[in-house]
Amino acid sequence: MLKSKIIICMASLTMAGTTLAVNPFFETYKTPHQTIPFNEIKTEHYMPAFEEAMKQHDKEIDAIVNNPKAPNFENTIVALDNSGEMLTKVASVFYNLLSAETNDDLQAIAQELSPKMSEHSNAIRLNEKLFARVKAVYDQKDKLKLNPEQQTLLKDTYDGFADNGANLSDADKTVYRELSKELDMLTLTYGQNVLKETNKYQLLITNKDLLKGLPADLTDMLAENAKKAGKEGWLINLKTTSYVPVMKYADNRDLRRELYMANASKCMVGGEYDNREILRKIANTRLKIANLLGHKSYADYVLVHRMAENKKNVYDLLNKLLAAYKPEAEKEYAEVQAYADKNGAYFKVQPWDWSYYSEKLKAEKYDLNDEMTKPYFELEKVRKGIFDLAGRLYGIKFKENTDIQVYNPEVKAYDVTDENGKYLAVYYADNHPRDGKRAGAWMNDMKGQWMEGKKDSRPHIVNVTNFTRPTSTKPALLTFDEVTTMLHEFGHGLHGMLTKCQYKSLSGTSVYRDFVELPSQIMENWAVEKEFLDNFAVNYQTGEKIPAELIKKIKDSENFNAGNLCLRQLSFGLLDLKWHTLETPFEGDVVSFEKEAMNATQILPVIENTAMSPTFSHIFSGGYAAGYYSYKWAEVLDADAYSVFQKNGIFDNKTAASFRKNILEKGGTEHPMVLYKRFRGQEPTIDALLKRNGIK
Ligand SMILES: [Zn+2]
Repeated sequence: MLKSKIIICMASLTMAGTTLAVNPFFETYKTPHQTIPFNEIKTEHYMPAFEEAMKQHDKEIDAIVNNPKAPNFENTIVALDNSGEMLTKVASVFYNLLSAETNDDLQAIAQELSPKMSEHSNAIRLNEKLFARVKAVYDQKDKLKLNPEQQTLLKDTYDGFADNGANLSDADKTVYRELSKELDMLTLTYGQNVLKETNKYQLLITNKDLLKGLPADLTDMLAENAKKAGKEGWLINLKTTSYVPVMKYADNRDLRRELYMANASKCMVGGEYDNREILRKIANTRLKIANLLGHKSYADYVLVHRMAENKKNVYDLLNKLLAAYKPEAEKEYAEVQAYADKNGAYFKVQPWDWSYYSEKLKAEKYDLNDEMTKPYFELEKVRKGIFDLAGRLYGIKFKENTDIQVYNPEVKAYDVTDENGKYLAVYYADNHPRDGKRAGAWMNDMKGQWMEGKKDSRPHIVNVTNFTRPTSTKPALLTFDEVTTMLHEFGHGLHGMLTKCQYKSLSGTSVYRDFVELPSQIMENWAVEKEFLDNFAVNYQTGEKIPAELIKKIKDSENFNAGNLCLRQLSFGLLDLKWHTLETPFEGDVVSFEKEAMNATQILPVIENTAMSPTFSHIFSGGYAAGYYSYKWAEVLDADAYSVFQKNGIFDNKTAASFRKNILEKGGTEHPMVLYKRFRGQEPTIDALLKRNGIK
């Protein structure tokens, strides 16, 4: 059946004049561990593969629906979980590259694909006969003798339909379909606008005096930026590797102000990439969807499937943290202002001064800056240190495998084996910024994990970051923040690699959003442990071990401006909640709406004509709508969980084994609070976090 389709598909393309050989998506991959054959995949392969994959998926669904046997767990719930294999195969390649290695062609495909994909998944979600079978199984759930993982799969499957309109009338189903299609287009456009506006901005400096204060390797990098663009001088852009350090070190206040304003007013000053109208539409469309499904607001709709459960619990946590951290944040601001005054600033410290004076005060207080630590954090050494940590905790090993194909020559691929030397996973690392890679850092899977009968089909995981690139004179040297980010993403990676579940939709990081950051954030705790750093942090030139005194300084300085950092996260969390607890459509001014949301958390002066909402991709184009609070929620969890390692020893095998067995292997197979309590023996409290931040 499938074969004849492929032939038809190829014939029509050949007639159109395309010299298209075999489409690799239609073949079984003959690569190591059946990894993606990136070298063979061409842009023109995607659309035919997506179309064929959707057709195949539809057929699989038809087979479930038309099964003459009465619906049961295997022939309906499990069959559904197994369906769409080819679609997942194509989509995982496409969407990974759309984030990490995009270009105009891929973006055009994404635009074309977006409505088709929505329509496809909605057709399944709104398939009445299919839902009737799912419901029939769900209704007899108490009699089925299912294990906890099976119970979760059944409940998630049922809720997946109900939350997506399966119980709606025919007329409302049509409305729902239109709204979700519109929402997908809006969020995609929003995200693309942010990327395009960020890439558009370039500030060419031709007078080196303006760059006073910048460390040498930063000016080197800016000079290389200019050279690459065929220009002379120093080119500053708004990518984090350029923007963040320039704001920290540039003595020239006008330059800082110019950059700050360019960054903080992105996508909101008119022009083709303005996101204000789009984000209003996103918020209002989400409200309409929530209302249609019987919820007062989008947050009400989302939080049912979160560890937090409802908005009251979220506000409680954010407000508790706000009360605890605000006095600290005010003290910190006064301290930075006093420092600036002492150093001849005759002005109130503004947002574009904050990072600059904070960095200098921090240097004076702790005699520590990024330049002092960077020589000890050569990327490859840090990577080895992190691999070794995973080895000590979980017994797993990493070995580079150059036979595995990668999507860019900079990407590295590793075979991962478990404590018995058995194949466990494939791990890809993609570390440096490029045009076409979106900002930030993330983990994703190229292939998930599930059981195929008795065979465990293992996952392929990728970590993508935007770390300082090597220059012609130096290897890639990471800032301490980048080391922390690497540990963080690797923690998500472990969640993906160590997973051991039966069903693909529950495995790995398929957990509630306010739980997903626990495995990642807990890893950050090791970054300040001397026993950990001693194993790999040596000066890249002299080979000298990182001095104990320097580690102590890093640790002491960890809580510098902790109050402000916390308030910043709270402000984002509160802004997100304000957009998503709307109970009537919003037509007003985005900027004043935002100021109101952030008011309680505001320590620095409020700047006219700036706003976060137009570039807040997490909530308007990522998956964090009504979920930004999760970072804080998970921080409470990670501090609480790490306190067990602190008590038993930071390399303690037993504690690690328990964390692996109860959290990392379990994916979303049971409610996170159940899993957590099994590891911890009790519910989490905020005490460990306050203690770690020196608040209590
Ligand atoms: Zn994360």
